[in-house]
Amino acid sequence: MNNCLLCAQPVKQTASWELSWLFRSPPICCKTCLAGFEKLTGSLCTFCGKESTEPVCEDCQDRDHFLDSNKSIYRYNDFAKEYMKKFKFQGDYAIGAIFKSELKKHLAGENQKIVPIPVSKTRKLERGFNQTSAILKQSDILYEEILAKKHTEKQSKKTKKERLAAEQVFYFLGKEVGEVCEILLFDDIYTTGSTLNLAAQILKKAGVEKVSALTIFR
Ligand SMILES: [Zn+2]
Ligand SMILES: [Zn+2]
Repeated sequence: MNNCLLCAQPVKQTASWELSWLFRSPPICCKTCLAGFEKLTGSLCTFCGKESTEPVCEDCQDRDHFLDSNKSIYRYNDFAKEYMKKFKFQGDYAIGAIFKSELKKHLAGENQKIVPIPVSKTRKLERGFNQTSAILKQSDILYEEILAKKHTEKQSKKTKKERLAAEQVFYFLGKEVGEVCEILLFDDIYTTGSTLNLAAQILKKAGVEKVSALTIFR
């Protein structure tokens, strides 16, 4: 028996008749904690994955779309905020593994190159790791770090308008992107979409045809 990475309670493994259960690694998060993450369901905006009764939500109506689409898994509720605080700001690296099976499910059958959204060097030093690569790494998902980020003021300190009008903050780590048709950007949270849109912009300028995104929270 192991303990839940979030609440430290012992995790009970329930027996199942599914054959796949035999090969599954033991759960690293208890059922109660897992239930705290609310999945996004229902009708979603085609572009940004926000819950919306319209096919294209209000936020996406008049904007330049470099990012072709975004899919998010969970709602950024209070539980998710607490999780991010623990993971990102208190640097609890191990809990990045929590979304492994959910991410594997979302990425099954996808064969684009997966590129994590980088953090600036300063931010990486503060935290000790880049949270997006950390989640992928701990989920055994192959990725390539091809983008780097300039150091700017914290996103959370900016107003929504400032975030939407942001200038390019990304650059290529190496010599551009090469012959790649499709890229899937990976980020932890989709807020206004401006960060992902900027990353998509630089990739499209470099010749990538399709850029979509997968984010944990929305
Ligand atoms: Zn728990
Ligand atoms: Zn939208």
